[in-house]
Order: sequence, then C-alpha cells, then structure tokens
Amino acid sequence: MKTALITGATSGIGLSTTQLFLKRGYRVVMVDLDDVLGQMIKKELDETGYEGKVFFKQGDVSSSKSMEDLYNYTKTFVGQIDVIINNAGIFCPGELHEVSEEMWDRVMSVDVKGIYLTTKYFVPDMIQRRAGVILNTASISGLQGDYNMAAYNAAKGAVVNLARAMALDYGKYGIRVNNVCPGPCMTPMFERNPDELVREFEQASPVGRICTPEEVAQALYFLAGDEAQACTGINLPVTTGFGLHTGQPI
Ligand code: NAD
Repeated sequence: MKTALITGATSGIGLSTTQLFLKRGYRVVMVDLDDVLGQMIKKELDETGYEGKVFFKQGDVSSSKSMEDLYNYTKTFVGQIDVIINNAGIFCPGELHEVSEEMWDRVMSVDVKGIYLTTKYFVPDMIQRRAGVILNTASISGLQGDYNMAAYNAAKGAVVNLARAMALDYGKYGIRVNNVCPGPCMTPMFERNPDELVREFEQASPVGRICTPEEVAQALYFLAGDEAQACTGINLPVTTGFGLHTGQPI
C-alpha cells in the first residue's frame, strides 16, 4: 500500500485529493495549518473505515522547523512516503506596488518555499530508495499572466519551472516530478469571490463551467500512478478550457 503526503489537506483540492487517494487504496498523511479542522476530518475519515490509513499532522509548509517535525513524525508513525503532493497555497491579490512586503514574503514562503522544504526533508529518502513521485498544485496563473495578481503569478510561475528543474535533477534517481495547473476551481479559496465574478469565470470557459476540486484530484491521482510513468516535468492544465482564448474579439 502506497502512502501519499498531502499538504493543505483540510480544504478544497487537498481535501478532495485526500478522499480520492484513500478511496483508491493509498494511505494518506494530511498536513495543514488548521489543527482543529484537521483533527475533525481525520476522526470523520476514521469513522468511515479509514482508521489506520489516514494520519493528520498540523504543520506550516513555510516553516523549516515544522517540516522537520513532520518528517520526524512520519518516520516514527507512518514509514515510507511514496508520493508528496505540495498542494498548500495562498492567493495574493493586487497590483504589485500595492502588495505589502509581508504579503509578498508570505505568498513566496507558502507557495514556493513550501515545496523546497518538503523536498529538503523528504526527498533524500526517495533518492536512497531510487523511487518516488512529487506533485505540485501550480496554477494556470503560473502559465500565463492575470490582471491584479502579479505576486501570485510570480509564485506559481516559479512552481511551474520548479517541476521542470526538479524533473531534470531527480530523473536519475527514479523520481518523477509533475504539476497540475488548475484553472478557476470551486473551492473555499475561489468561493470567496462575489457571485457575479464566479458567473463571469464560468462564462469565460468554452464549456460554461469552472473545474471542481474532484477533477483536479483525479489529475493528481493519474500523475501519481504507474500509468503516468512516462510523464515527468509536465504542467498539466485542468481548466475546463479556461484561458485558451487569445483575447481577440469574437
Ligand atoms: P483552499 O484555501 O481551499 O485550501 C488551501 C489549504 O491550504 C487550506 O486548508 C489552508 O489551511 C492550507 N494552508 C495554507 N497555508 C498553509 C501553510 N503555510 N501550511 C500548511 N497548510 C496551509 O485552497 P484551494 O483552492 O484548494 O487551493 C489549493 C491549491 O490549489 C493552492 O496551491 C492554490 O494556489 C491552487 N489553485 C487553486 C485554484 C482555485 O481556483 N481554487 C486555482 C489554481 C490553483
């Protein structure tokens, strides 16, 4: 039975991914800032038949100490980690000059440094075993620019290129590295937008809707598995076609 470590696991894409991976026979280590919600979800999952298969550890992906504690926790209570899913991420609106230094540092720390830190602590074991899969939740906002979210574009752009660089470096150890790039996705992060804006996003997709967290989870599940052996260094858009348009008038 394989084990996946999923960050940002108590909400949205991370929660759907946790549920799908458990359903498909993985053990899952959930990691999130939110201790109360994490403990509650773990208890619910235990009660629905996943006792012994689901673990929760409160953690902050941007903190080296916290990720070192997480690594030590998995060594003691879980064992081998086969798949790392760096999903925790925060959004940062605003034109670049409006973004506070604190917020710039925060978005870079969570969205980018978080990936560095799980790599620092967990990848040496994968290198030793000559096997492993690393997946990141990047974004369509890492592949293209957006109005009014330059810091987020910069952070997710870094994640997009990290998958390529890590795939190059770690291929020789049998480790694959891939990203999913969701378009707007109906999670608590996105639902904070006003209803009219959500409608506008839906209308901008050729299929008239935005993607669901379950659909992103399915893409992550594919990339984690042996069916995706030939995929490494890719950025897979999961977008319902959102963002395909050049912007030319119809
Ligand atoms: P969400 O806000 O619903 O969930 C994010 C989770 O990450 C939360 O549970 C939060 O507590 C946790 N988290 C935040 N900071 C953390 C930290 N420092 N350490 C550990 N956990 C932390 O968001 P979501 O929409 O499910 O987003 C998941 C990922 O998908 C993010 O990386 C986001 O950037 C990306 N994404 C989302 C969308 C979208 O439209 N929702 C689109 C593209 C990409």
